[in-house]
Amino acid sequence: MKILVVGSGGREHALAWKLTQSERIQMVYVAPGNGGTAMDARLKNVDITDPAWLAQFALKEGIALTVVGPEVPLAAGIVNIFREHGLKIFGPTKEAAQLESSKDFAKAFMKRHRIPTASYQTFSRLADAHKYIDQKGAPIVIKADGLAAGKGVVVAMTLEEAHAAADMMLSDNKLGDAGARVVIEEFLEGEEASFIVMVDGKNILPLATSQDHKRLKDNDEGPNTGGMGAYSPAPIITPSLHARVMREIINPTVLGMSKDGIPFTGFLYAGLMIDAKGNPKTLEFNCRMGDPETQPIMARLKTDLVDVMEHAVDGTLDQVHLEWDRRTALGVVMAAAGYPDAPHKGDVITGIPQESADCITFHAGTALNGDKLTTSGGRVLCVVGLGDSVKLAQKAAYTAVDQIHFEGAQFRRDIGWRALKRPG
Ligand code: ATP
Repeated sequence: MKILVVGSGGREHALAWKLTQSERIQMVYVAPGNGGTAMDARLKNVDITDPAWLAQFALKEGIALTVVGPEVPLAAGIVNIFREHGLKIFGPTKEAAQLESSKDFAKAFMKRHRIPTASYQTFSRLADAHKYIDQKGAPIVIKADGLAAGKGVVVAMTLEEAHAAADMMLSDNKLGDAGARVVIEEFLEGEEASFIVMVDGKNILPLATSQDHKRLKDNDEGPNTGGMGAYSPAPIITPSLHARVMREIINPTVLGMSKDGIPFTGFLYAGLMIDAKGNPKTLEFNCRMGDPETQPIMARLKTDLVDVMEHAVDGTLDQVHLEWDRRTALGVVMAAAGYPDAPHKGDVITGIPQESADCITFHAGTALNGDKLTTSGGRVLCVVGLGDSVKLAQKAAYTAVDQIHFEGAQFRRDIGWRALKRPG
């Protein structure tokens, strides 16, 4: 069977890597892929990103199933286009992807279906936004409505920052159309966790829990990033909290989408804020898997992912039981010099260890030039270690990280600190 994975990050490398472990796989194509997928003989990069051209490629090559990694092609309607051609693809339609591509859509949806989230209002007029900010006070959170590659959220600790963020989006047009409307919402305190499930329109299959590290530097300092590391499982998601999140957030979301006439298929990711009392609220929805959460999650998945994907596109996820490696998987992101503002490209990467039972290196911003591997993007690698405890998984990951070299590599030394800090 031939499968196509759309995307070029660490998430897509991890999905493709997992798919190749199935005996039923003839070839996994990755479009456009990266240096790591180019080096793997079981994978083939395809230099196409346009959804319509990808559909033509899938028809010509006899691709049995397509899995989409990132949000941009989903928001552009890749699923709609593939389905029009009778091609099987796992992901939400353009309409359903609005859960991520429009924060106003997501907030109105949550309000309508009584899904716990921060209180909010949406504005397109600057004067009204300023007035609301003054009314509510700081801290307060200003979010661009549309997709802004992680740059559209300002958590303002002061009124000054909040007003400046509103100006930046609504008056200076710094984020273009994405910032033409802004959601202004209540500041929530607590601990964040990622809750990812697969949805086939009606059945829901939760994946292993995970937790990301958004800030660039140790101790959660420095600017927000796409994510500097993640581990799975996340002990903060106890079985009772898991049941609550399913009951209060995930089930009503999937049911609500169906009721609204836009059934959701694909990976559904709820970014949660869990307060000191253990109550979960939804910070955001993503309509795809998280990066870097996917890397440790795929490292732990034992079930054949091809079988799972087939059930997902056929609407029979209720027949799937997922098996997980009992160990902890912990991924450390190595980012390029200058990330996140201006990542430096073209630095030679050396020292990546061979894949072993307790360590896998997934590529993101890498390119293969002849036999030279170089940096080509912000987040370069995600090194995943596996171990019987968080500490051992951490050790396995950092042992490999310490062997890898490229100029100006940035990474955190404390991935997993929250899990290590938890009692018991
Ligand atoms: P992502 O890159 O994860 O898709 P995004 O740009 O869609 O992010 P959000 O996830 O909504 O934006 O917010 C980014 C980060 O800002 C969150 O991970 C969280 O740390 C912080 N944040 C968002 N909303 C709130 C809130 N209401 N209160 C406190 N912090 C918040």
